[in-house]
Amino acid sequence: MKVVIQAKKNLLESNTALANKLRQNFFKAGVTVFNLMSSPGAGKTTLLEETVEILSKQHKVGVIEGDVATDFDAERIARKGVPVIQVNTGSTCHLDASMIADSLDNYPNWQDLDMLFIENVGNLLCPATFDLGEKKRIVLLSTPEGEDKPLKYPLMFQKADMVLITKIDLAEVLNFDRVKVCSDISKLNPKAKYLEVSSQTGEGISQWLKYLVPGTT
Ligand code: MG
Ligand code: ZN
Repeated sequence: MKVVIQAKKNLLESNTALANKLRQNFFKAGVTVFNLMSSPGAGKTTLLEETVEILSKQHKVGVIEGDVATDFDAERIARKGVPVIQVNTGSTCHLDASMIADSLDNYPNWQDLDMLFIENVGNLLCPATFDLGEKKRIVLLSTPEGEDKPLKYPLMFQKADMVLITKIDLAEVLNFDRVKVCSDISKLNPKAKYLEVSSQTGEGISQWLKYLVPGTT
């Protein structure tokens, strides 16, 4: 029993060490890295499609797609003309730093990017514990999932730099309690930024882009 616990601790420690090394390399190369996390179906890929389509007009943008299986999401991003690497994690329900290091080995000239978006495996649990060397952690919560999720999966929200409430156009019809979710998140993590967005109506998208590239109008 003791051995198992120790093994897991070592695994996390070595992940953190590698993530810190990646973060240094990203910093030296001037690549700003965002780690996007959420449940499956919260809208990470849809938001990324829109985001890279707009940002790639003025910036060099790249994507790493994490999924248990398939390359459907990488296909969607590639259609926007943005370089993308798909990582299939198989039986693993999160990305870890070694998967990011392997992806970079296969990513031509990643050092030239301005921004790299990592779409994590859809899961509100363990992606929170695996540092990928990112600068910012973005957590998406969609209105159909319900406003109870921050209290049920606190770690994910405690470690977020930005929480995006997605599909906000559905809030009313779903009786989604925006006041409660905002107050729960700010109690869990007073430093987290909070933004409501909709890919359908475009609500919040310009603020989201401003967050990614401060100084743009
Ligand atoms: Mg996706
Ligand atoms: Zn996992």
